[in-house]
Amino acid sequence: MPIQTLNPATGKVEKTFEELSDADVDKAIAQSVSGFHALRSLSFADRATLMMRAADILEDREETYGRLLTTEMGKTFASARAEVKKCAWACRFYAEHAEEFLADRPIETKAQRSFARYLPIGPVLAVMPWNFPLWQCFRFAAPALMAGNTGLLKHASNVPQSALAIEEVFRDAGFPEGTFQTLLVGSGKVERILQDDRVRAATLTGSEPAGRAVAATAGDHIKKTVLELGGSDPFIVMPSADLDAALDAAVKGRTLNNGQSCIAAKRFIIHQDIYRDFRDGFVSRFEALKVGDPMAEDTDIGPLAMAQTRDDLDKQVTESVAKGAHCLTGAEVIDGDGFFYRPGILENIPEGAPAFAEELFGPVATLYSAANLSEAISLANTSRFGLGSAIFTQNEGEIEQAFNHLDAGGTFVNTITASDPRLPFGGVKASGYGRELASDGIREFVNIKTCCVG
Ligand code: NAP
Repeated sequence: MPIQTLNPATGKVEKTFEELSDADVDKAIAQSVSGFHALRSLSFADRATLMMRAADILEDREETYGRLLTTEMGKTFASARAEVKKCAWACRFYAEHAEEFLADRPIETKAQRSFARYLPIGPVLAVMPWNFPLWQCFRFAAPALMAGNTGLLKHASNVPQSALAIEEVFRDAGFPEGTFQTLLVGSGKVERILQDDRVRAATLTGSEPAGRAVAATAGDHIKKTVLELGGSDPFIVMPSADLDAALDAAVKGRTLNNGQSCIAAKRFIIHQDIYRDFRDGFVSRFEALKVGDPMAEDTDIGPLAMAQTRDDLDKQVTESVAKGAHCLTGAEVIDGDGFFYRPGILENIPEGAPAFAEELFGPVATLYSAANLSEAISLANTSRFGLGSAIFTQNEGEIEQAFNHLDAGGTFVNTITASDPRLPFGGVKASGYGRELASDGIREFVNIKTCCVG
């Protein structure tokens, strides 16, 4: 894939970049090592001052960076600005809490003094996707840098300017040289970077094949990985739910970020007693969504990020319909410039159809009916993925059943699944392993050193 900004609303290439040479990459890794020595010798308070400055910079540049995100991957301008602000929140959160999360943990033994100390490990490679071009990176970088590690970012090839903006934020905040660098390289260079002894670990957010490739190389070289992969999150609605609230959340959950979110609600499993009412309300709400220019204030859904993303989604829909799925509304390519797609809803999806088993990375919802919660949960758990999940109900027993039995990294009740710096984030099964955010995230890339004074 060329490294370039191609505006998905117009289909026009706006800027193209040359890939770094191997020698450039080697130089960057060397700088990452020297940056690591400088960063780890700073106190938490000093790092926090720099991280707070990064937050200020993000807030000052909310509009500029927001415009960049919209231009590079088509999310609405309002959601792009919200993303920039959320990154500032993560920076402040870790500036305020990193020291407490990584404080020595005393452990009583026969020794005079024994404890666990959390030390940084060095340069960490971050392979990141385009769907939240800033947020995915900041949720790795803010804890990693506060722990004293340095970051090397290999961002998705269609968001190079966003990738450079992230490096710029940390540079302008005054972090030591080499603390956070963007490597403009294609995925073909990732293996070589990971093989380098100076790179200590890797985190990848993206698709299953990319996760598998990075984890295999890292495994070969005994390096830890965190994988945040795809999802096909269930969204269960029970009869006791506030139906209007559930419907509003369902539409938001499926269409946020133009439908391209790993934790989007994708499979709607509705109790049979309210299935028809839910379906009617869902269809009318979908039909009212405005698809168009992502810069316009009244646009609900912009274009999909790339022609390929749109074509892949359309193929999954077409094949599913050919296998017997019924399309209730939309789910079709919108002709013209840009990569627009009409949001749609499928029902009666047979087990062999792509829409049943695969992730739909775009604004297409799948609808199922279940006789009771046990049946809904077992249908939810048929997925190979296990990222987020949501249930709408007022029944305490059902809430507990969902918490205990949905195979997912998170279960949200009467609200959509969302990431929050204070809460751990991650998945099970094919959605990956490891956690980001909260105290769990900052402890992924540290040496938990046993310290013992006899
Ligand atoms: P992708 O194609 O896997 O790309 C993600 C990153 O991996 C890009 O930087 C890409 O580089 C790189 N990459 C691709 N193949 C690689 C390989 N064989 N070796 C090394 N690096 C490789 O995924 P995407 O299409 O950008 O993102 C969509 C997927 O990400 C969806 O499945 C979504 O659910 C998932 N996602 C998960 C989370 C989560 O937190 N769990 C969050 C967001 C997205 P190039 O761009 O140069 O190919």
